[in-house]
Amino acid sequence: MKPIKLAIVAPCYNEEEMLPISAPRLMSLMREMIGDGLVAADSFLLFVNDGSRDSTWSIISRLHDENPMCHGLNLSRNVGHQNAIMAGMLTAVDAPESADAVITIDVDLQDPLECIPQMVKGCYEGYDVVYGVRTSRESDSFLKRFTAESFYKLQNHMGLKTIYNHADFRFMTRRVVEELARYEERNLYLRGIIPMIGFPSTRVEEVRERREAGETKYTVKKMLTLAFDGITSFSVKPIYMIMALGGIFVLIAIAIGIYVLVSLFNGTAVHGWASLILSIWLVGGIILIAVGLVGLYVGKVYIETKHRPRYHIEKHLT
Ligand code: UDP
Ligand code: MG
Repeated sequence: MKPIKLAIVAPCYNEEEMLPISAPRLMSLMREMIGDGLVAADSFLLFVNDGSRDSTWSIISRLHDENPMCHGLNLSRNVGHQNAIMAGMLTAVDAPESADAVITIDVDLQDPLECIPQMVKGCYEGYDVVYGVRTSRESDSFLKRFTAESFYKLQNHMGLKTIYNHADFRFMTRRVVEELARYEERNLYLRGIIPMIGFPSTRVEEVRERREAGETKYTVKKMLTLAFDGITSFSVKPIYMIMALGGIFVLIAIAIGIYVLVSLFNGTAVHGWASLILSIWLVGGIILIAVGLVGLYVGKVYIETKHRPRYHIEKHLT
């Protein structure tokens, strides 16, 4: 069988510390795979610069000048991890790159490189998607591990079919990427969409490693945005939950009403200022939450109807 032309896509945001370490490793891995006849000789690495404010892009340009295997994509501004990956994948399978398959991996290489040849082998076994699944997160901080794992559980409760402990380390053949391109949504949550596409898929297990250099680029704010996008882009369950809560509160209100009427007829004194003011605040709060939640969905409709481009490519080094 003819070896596939593989593109390894790595998003980079302010990664001047990590990139000089990971690029040589990725290159030697690629050379090894080419040597083993696992991938075609014109396979390449595609570094996507997601609007970094440090010297990331000049490092990528230098890598490109020195090694024809290194390609670069410069986005005009920071569009976030998910959109940066999307830009990289779509560019990699499109002409002139025309890769047969892509692997996305964060440039900090917290996902072990040894899994990559395994993923490629999965392709020859007939799989279109190979998910990297984290079996051990020992190297993550307690907070990161706790938030990430509760997030996956919450998603499943909300009816989202995601792969537990799979982030964005995955192998996809060109036809899957082409199908993915047909999802036009701007609130991109790849971990939710890709299982929806279907096609034969399998997993490789990995142990998540420590970030070797630089800091995490995922601020708490970015993580929360991703979590909210993940749920509100795929599930309307929260709206039903709020509605049910509203129902319960109406029932409680009726019960209190009956109690007030009964005590009125019994002639017991009216002393209710505290409870009155309390319930006003409580109900007011619930209403605000509900309106806010509905607003979230309305906001999404607003963004989606614009059909804005996801990213802009400033320069493409092939
Ligand atoms: N990243 C990006 N755009 C952003 C934030 C992050 O392209 O706005 C990239 C970053 O360079 C890295 C990957 O996404 O390659 C994952 O980020 P990081 O390793 O900081 O996240 P963590 O592993 O802590 O979740
Ligand atoms: Mg990382």
